[in-house]
Amino acid sequence: MKIAFIGLGNMGGGMAANLVKAGHDVRAFDLAPAALERARDNGCATFATVREAVQDVDAVVSMLPNGGIVKAVYQADVIDHAPTAALLLDCSTIDVGTAREVAQLAQDNGYAMADAPVSGGIAAANGGTLTFMVGGSDEIFNRAEPILSAMGKAVIHAGDNGAGQAAKICNNMLLGASMVATCETFKLAERLGLDLQTFYDISSKASGQCWSMTSYCPVPGVGPATPADNGYQGGFATALMLKDLKLAMAAAEAAGAPVPMGHRAEELYSAFDADGHGGIDFSAIIKTL
Ligand code: NAD
Repeated sequence: MKIAFIGLGNMGGGMAANLVKAGHDVRAFDLAPAALERARDNGCATFATVREAVQDVDAVVSMLPNGGIVKAVYQADVIDHAPTAALLLDCSTIDVGTAREVAQLAQDNGYAMADAPVSGGIAAANGGTLTFMVGGSDEIFNRAEPILSAMGKAVIHAGDNGAGQAAKICNNMLLGASMVATCETFKLAERLGLDLQTFYDISSKASGQCWSMTSYCPVPGVGPATPADNGYQGGFATALMLKDLKLAMAAAEAAGAPVPMGHRAEELYSAFDADGHGGIDFSAIIKTL
């Protein structure tokens, strides 16, 4: 297929490369010259504008920083410029309202569009092992699935437009809250004189078990290898966790849903980010406790 790829940053760069590996003809655009150069090295054709990249394609995939940018790019340069037969897939993490608004705009102009945000970080984007959560009709999901499969290990239909974003921010709100809970639990265990590896061995087989503990333990030297064992470098940046928690808080407010634990996690990550830790892994919040 001819696929336009817009936004070739940390995530999009590897995703576009995996589409090339799967045999697609990828037409790439990014505002950053370095991102375009990397895309060229990975076998993408590069273009000077979005409008040129989307001409004559079968699908458009975007991986952009936020909802405002997604809306602006689709409104100004994709809709009316890509063929109406092209399937539009936005994989960025954005707010549910904007995802629905852009999909409606696309639909009003004769396009099929889905939101398809991802779980998994830069390593999963490079390795083609992302999990996609797709919001769109059954028909759109069936068209999207083979394209997304080239970039991921799981492609799951979450529901209608916006449902992919809803699943993403709900999942990440739980992750943020469970990471803080895991961190404070290990700190309490330490104060109570427990050996932390021993506590891990017990709790990972007891009812406190959770992903933040057993797959992403914030304590160096305990559990599997994680960013904690690497000075909290790499992994999932605090600033990105905060972005997702803010999206979840806005969605909860709009939906009238009480989220006291999510709200507290957002406060704690806001303070950690404001103290200059936005670039390090989110499990480093254990240092504040
Ligand atoms: P990034 O900042 O590395 O990449 C974004 C890219 O978009 C940049 O190369 C930038 O130049 C480009 N861009 C910005 N405005 C543009 C425009 N108008 N036209 C074309 N290109 C434009 O960010 P990232 O880490 O790749 O994240 C992208 C998205 O994926 C975000 O929505 C993020 O929340 C989500 N996400 C990131 C991760 C992660 O671990 N990094 C994990 C899951 C989801």
